[in-house]
Amino acid sequence: MLVDSYNRTVDYLRVSVTERCNFRCQYCMPEKPFSWVPKENILSFEELFAFIKIAIDEGVKKIRITGGEPLLREDLDKFVKMIFDYEPSIDLAMTSNAYLLKGTAQKLKDAGLKRINVSIDTLKPEVALKIAQKDVLDNVLEGVEEALRVGLKVKVNMVPMKGLNDGEILDVMEYCRERDMTIRFIEYMENVHANVDIKGMKSDELLDIIGGEYGYKDEGFDGHSPSHYYKTDDGYRFGIIEPYEDDFCKTCNRIRLSAEGQLIPCLYFDEAMSIKEPIQRGDLKGAALVLKEVVRTKPEKNRWSEDDGEASSRAFYETGG
Ligand code: SAM
Ligand code: SF4
Repeated sequence: MLVDSYNRTVDYLRVSVTERCNFRCQYCMPEKPFSWVPKENILSFEELFAFIKIAIDEGVKKIRITGGEPLLREDLDKFVKMIFDYEPSIDLAMTSNAYLLKGTAQKLKDAGLKRINVSIDTLKPEVALKIAQKDVLDNVLEGVEEALRVGLKVKVNMVPMKGLNDGEILDVMEYCRERDMTIRFIEYMENVHANVDIKGMKSDELLDIIGGEYGYKDEGFDGHSPSHYYKTDDGYRFGIIEPYEDDFCKTCNRIRLSAEGQLIPCLYFDEAMSIKEPIQRGDLKGAALVLKEVVRTKPEKNRWSEDDGEASSRAFYETGG
């Protein structure tokens, strides 16, 4: 079992398989980065899998594949199957912008993927074009329908932003409710890579809008989920991810692996250790020591609220969000 210095059990590994993306979301990667990590620096699926086996043996029970856009990586279903075959009981999930999901959902499901979180920030094509800087909405919505059709459990992430999609909070919520999908509103997190004009919305503003339409009650946190859950009086459950809140980090159980092999104890901080060298040398004991050291040095909490609006230098497309 992996336990950090604050007595939190770490059993959730997020694996970013690429930093590349086919969208240019205003809050994440508004411009193509000056240079991408060269392909030869990215760990192969076999190398990532060699580390994942160690992590599972040490007690990891949940793995989320993310990116950049994970579906840009060819043969992702084969990677999913490698993990599933090693430990079928693993809670195996993915986060995707859903653009390429229509053609891949069935293969991913067959390979052992259980759940998927998709990003839907708007239901208006012209707003999607503004946010992702590409005409994406039809493909995204078709991808979501296909994921539901093949039996994947789908959750939706929405980043509410003033002047962009703040008028669609209830519409996107309704779209999710009609399809029995939980929606989680993610408070925009400041970062130096985002468009400086983005103004996010905080949970009290979101709850004001939702409260104008529905009665709701606070259900608090659910296990290790970063999401604060609420339930409308007619029974629909929705979440808000509030990283600026004081108690956000109390139940954190996650670490992150980048496509280059950086093992990252906290999304907020720049600190990380590489598992690339030991894995490429076949030194599994060395990689396990790096894993234990990263868990040991996991910070108690992020500093989003203390920074008073100053941006973190972490790119979400590198760490997988
Ligand atoms: N490309 C996939 C997607 O968009 O779902 C997976 C990677 S993306 C980095 C993972 C999550 O991070 C998405 O739900 C996205 O909305 C969220 N995200 C990215 N930048 C963010 C920011 N500045 N603030 C809050 N959430 C952010
Ligand atoms: Fe790409 Fe996801 Fe970042 Fe949007 S949020 S640019 S889809 S990685």
